[in-house]
Amino acid sequence: MRSIVEAYLSDVHAALRDERGGAVADYIPELAAVPDDDFAIALCTTDGALYAVGDADVPFTIQSISKPFTYALALADHGVAAVDAKVGVEPSGDAFNEISLEPDTGRPRNPMINAGAITTASLVAGGDDEERFARVRALYSACAGRTLELDEAVFGSELESGHRNRAIGYMLRTVGILEDDPEPIVARYFRQCALRLDVRDLARMAATLAAAGISPTTGERVLPEAVVERTLGVMTTCGMYDAAGDWVTAVGLPAKSGVGGGILAVLPGQLGIAIFSPRLDAHGNSVRGVAACQRLAREMELHMLHVG
Ligand code: GLU
Repeated sequence: MRSIVEAYLSDVHAALRDERGGAVADYIPELAAVPDDDFAIALCTTDGALYAVGDADVPFTIQSISKPFTYALALADHGVAAVDAKVGVEPSGDAFNEISLEPDTGRPRNPMINAGAITTASLVAGGDDEERFARVRALYSACAGRTLELDEAVFGSELESGHRNRAIGYMLRTVGILEDDPEPIVARYFRQCALRLDVRDLARMAATLAAAGISPTTGERVLPEAVVERTLGVMTTCGMYDAAGDWVTAVGLPAKSGVGGGILAVLPGQLGIAIFSPRLDAHGNSVRGVAACQRLAREMELHMLHVG
């Protein structure tokens, strides 16, 4: 039987189903080929209750929603000071793929833009590249509650076409923020972006952050609480590309979107929200995803600064 929550989510889904604005990301050729009309919404509470409606079985790539998780892993591996020495926490106001670094330090401004995410990918501990990627995948999988697979086609497509990210990698190497050959680091960043999940997995990942680092699916602690707190802070100010200000005022939840069409949002202590709808606005955020989150936040009074 359908729960009250799912009935409510179905209403939201039906109300936005006919929204046809936006377009799929096409700068990664393989992403241009995904069906553009899928739409799913999921919620997962910190005690593991999961609700999903719409095209909840359709897989998509995590893309930039990987960034907060890899940042968290770098923080857990090295501590705040070492990570701060390499990447800042200030919103850039720039597009996600802007080639911009702080003029005085050479640091990327934050870990949610590509320059910062390539840097945090370089900071993941491990003996070799395979081991580092395995740790990244293990963390995402522990949060999702199942092993996530790599979408080889999307990975290969970005590896072939991602010249701009490669350029960012070389620039980071020039200023000493990357200390090794940028090629394998950027390739590892592409691999993390190409991990495949569905909206239920994403809701469980969001709920793991909401539960301060404990997977609601397995009860396992996967990240330290202080690391999650800092990650949520950066998501709040930098998670929605150059639309972060609009997002914080209208939705008021730490969040991250990806060009695969996913959005993950977190109500700390309570629940994780995940949306999937591949058509994106000019900032790179899912059009229906933003609209659905605005509506959920307003109707369920989820804004973290809600004052009654
Ligand atoms: N792999 C994508 C890139 O680096 C991720 C971008 C995104 O989702 O914003 O261009």
